[in-house]
Amino acid sequence: MTLTKDHIRDALSTVMLPTGEDPVSSGAVLNIAVCDEHASVRISMTKDAATPQPPRETLSKLGAVMDAAIRANAKEQGVHDLALIIDFVDHSGQVIMKLKGDPAGSVKPTQTKEQIPGAPTPPQNSAANGVPGVKSIIAVGAGKGGVGKSTIAVNLAIGLARKGYSVGILDGDIYGPSLPTMLGLQAIDQVVIDGALQPFLVHDVKAITMGKLVETDKPLIWRGPMAHGAFHQLIERTQWGELDYLIIDLPPGTGDVPLTLAQSVQLAGAVVVCTPQQVAQDDAVRAVNMFKSLGVEVLGVVENMSYFIGDPDDKGQTKEYDIFGRGGAQQMAQKLGLPFLGAIPINMPLRKNSDAGTPTKNFDPATAGGEQLPAALTSMTDQLIAQATLASMHRGQTKPTLTIS
Ligand code: ADP
Repeated sequence: MTLTKDHIRDALSTVMLPTGEDPVSSGAVLNIAVCDEHASVRISMTKDAATPQPPRETLSKLGAVMDAAIRANAKEQGVHDLALIIDFVDHSGQVIMKLKGDPAGSVKPTQTKEQIPGAPTPPQNSAANGVPGVKSIIAVGAGKGGVGKSTIAVNLAIGLARKGYSVGILDGDIYGPSLPTMLGLQAIDQVVIDGALQPFLVHDVKAITMGKLVETDKPLIWRGPMAHGAFHQLIERTQWGELDYLIIDLPPGTGDVPLTLAQSVQLAGAVVVCTPQQVAQDDAVRAVNMFKSLGVEVLGVVENMSYFIGDPDDKGQTKEYDIFGRGGAQQMAQKLGLPFLGAIPINMPLRKNSDAGTPTKNFDPATAGGEQLPAALTSMTDQLIAQATLASMHRGQTKPTLTIS
């Protein structure tokens, strides 16, 4: 028997909140992720900024009850050693308390930034050997160019930063660096202090790109070893400082260069971006296999350009067009047994904000053409956080806590 999301949902629906409702029917359960003997749950006790958060003590007790209910159900399914994380988040999705339960049924809040009300918890995860101070390095790859890999990488970085994590982004797409444009770096010069590259601090993200070190209008005809050397210098000579996440925008494809780059740094995992068409899926499968062959866990698949939202009609209704066959990449992820991180629509503001170097506008309904794009990008970020956390637990880097506080 295996533990499924439905089992966890059933278990949570037996818990009573202070309001008398259960967390499932009240809509407090935002997300459930489960994989073998690891699970994580996101709970929001407030729907808007105006509603006060329950006291930390209440959250802590509630978390312990939820943990016990889930664990009891897990045992019925034959899972006796469940490693469980319960995140309480505020209305904007920021983690306000993270509870980790171990197989013995002990639950403890982690001792990190969440001690400060409203501050998020950094990922307690991965080995990012070779880049001191960086906790998790996540590569964003794609089977081929033009599917929106850089767009997704940038928006994941911004999404993580909006959750309060310290985030860096490295433009590893050495043949066609997009970050100067997408982050609006054109007018800013690269600063080097004592031989160390200083990342650009833009939109609350630290960024570095080959595009600011070479003349971008000249073709870069680099073979594997040269590309590897340049990439290494970029990653190692940058003064990143402390980072929770470093997102790497890899070159597209599965050739020599992306393969060498993906291999050259200790990755916490990879995200594969794909458009829904069959031909794009075939390429994406190759990208997934490339990461697998390198022993890199694929944290999930993003379906970009999933569908198009038309203008509102006279009644204010919008129609969605499945231009490329919406759901294709999602099905591919299912077939490969990979997490699906979300579907991002074809969206004119997204393209305009990318060209203008103003990606934070994608997260504001007023400048993103409505609620849909910000919601899709935020949900994609949440899914990545959940999968990165699960992956790190799998690797044993998030050690369950053994004492009850
Ligand atoms: P890649 O890195 O895969 O080559 P990019 O991220 O550079 O692709 O995207 C290619 C172009 O498509 C860019 O102009 C970008 O703004 C646009 N684009 C990407 N995703 C979307 C989307 N969902 N909606 C609208 N335009 C998009």
